[in-house]
Amino acid sequence: MVDLVVRNGRIVLPEGMITGEISIEDGRICRIAVSGLPKGDQEIDAKGRIIIPGVVDVHVHLYDRKFPNREDFASGSSAAAAGGVTTVIVMPWDTPIVSGPCIEEVIDLGCKNSIVDFALHAGNMSAETIKKVPEINCFGIKSFKAFTCDPYQMSYDAIEELMCYVKAIGGVTFVHAEDQKVLSKGIKALKRRKDPMAHAESRSNEAEEEAIKKVLKSAARTECRTHIAHVTTRQGCEAVEKAKEKGSHVSAETCPHFLVFTREDIERLGPYLKVNPSLKSPSDRAALWEALKNGAIDIVSTDHAPATKEEKEIGWTDIWQAPSGVPGVETFLPIMLSEGVVKGRLSLEQLVNSMCTKPAVLFGLYPRKGVIQEGSDADLTILDLNEEMKISADRLHYKVGWTPYEGMRVRGLPVMTLLRGKVIAEGGKITVAPGFGQFLPR
Ligand SMILES: [Zn+2]
Repeated sequence: MVDLVVRNGRIVLPEGMITGEISIEDGRICRIAVSGLPKGDQEIDAKGRIIIPGVVDVHVHLYDRKFPNREDFASGSSAAAAGGVTTVIVMPWDTPIVSGPCIEEVIDLGCKNSIVDFALHAGNMSAETIKKVPEINCFGIKSFKAFTCDPYQMSYDAIEELMCYVKAIGGVTFVHAEDQKVLSKGIKALKRRKDPMAHAESRSNEAEEEAIKKVLKSAARTECRTHIAHVTTRQGCEAVEKAKEKGSHVSAETCPHFLVFTREDIERLGPYLKVNPSLKSPSDRAALWEALKNGAIDIVSTDHAPATKEEKEIGWTDIWQAPSGVPGVETFLPIMLSEGVVKGRLSLEQLVNSMCTKPAVLFGLYPRKGVIQEGSDADLTILDLNEEMKISADRLHYKVGWTPYEGMRVRGLPVMTLLRGKVIAEGGKITVAPGFGQFLPR
């Protein structure tokens, strides 16, 4: 007898949707059928519900020993699980993840405390650590974060050299692209203002466009697979699209906060919406939705990067003193279902592609993750598209106790999350102990 059978759900498969059943054995999907699968030890009735692959969030800041108050593996991965995310790729925050002991420390902490499966990005890379790429790769890491701007700026030449090393191991260079020269001009002009909008205005569309274009030229020259983090502008989308037309191995992401908020929201939420890159205009937001729909933007990830209320509050009097970043991993799927699928901006298949399948493909986790097919890990997120919720930080698992989406009504919620065939969250409650998550070497 198989371990588990999930029946009567509408299942999103690579070839389209079916109403059917999934049997699971030893944590993997054993069979998928319209009907007739033999009884399992455990049965789940998903009648009236939709089953998608567990969400893969490739840009999550969960842990830094410097920021114990912001998030840790247990809290951040609980938030992920409750929100239907079954795999995260953990991004370094400030403490570099570029050497053996540091990598082993993070893997060890994750294995002891994570609810969901996790992989790691190395970074933040610097001119000095470029040559360590092969050594880092030995620890099961294949993606490398680089910045074109402060506070971890690498020169464009150094990034191109990094790409050569990353190309040699078949990895991905993951770039935060805002041009420091353009940013410096903007910051200099606005530094005397201290209000929250000053920070947003200091980071222009031009800064993003300039950096993306330069980075994509290096990507074309080195033929290194390159991923542009958190695109925020119309110009950024166009630059990525052009590079793709020319055949570059480039991919790009945007984040839910750029799909929901614009600068106008900073009036209300001030430093809580201080993010890098900054929020842009309604026209940019519309361009991001369009790019996501037509594939110029490949994936959505959260750039989950909470800071405490105390840290954020400072920004009302001096925005330059507040840290950047918003929590987002637990509201990720509800926001995208509600703003994307329910509002008709994305089909359910497009959502699954941009939040499950494509992220797994781009970062070397496919077909183990990101797809419902026989042999893949039984990572399933069960949705109720009719269920509604008013988002409230009280019901979320973040350590920091706030969300920029407070009070927002969403329709379409994850109601159950399975990781490797085990229910890890149900109705927003975590049902396994910390440490259920495994490290995914790539
Ligand atoms: Zn980030």
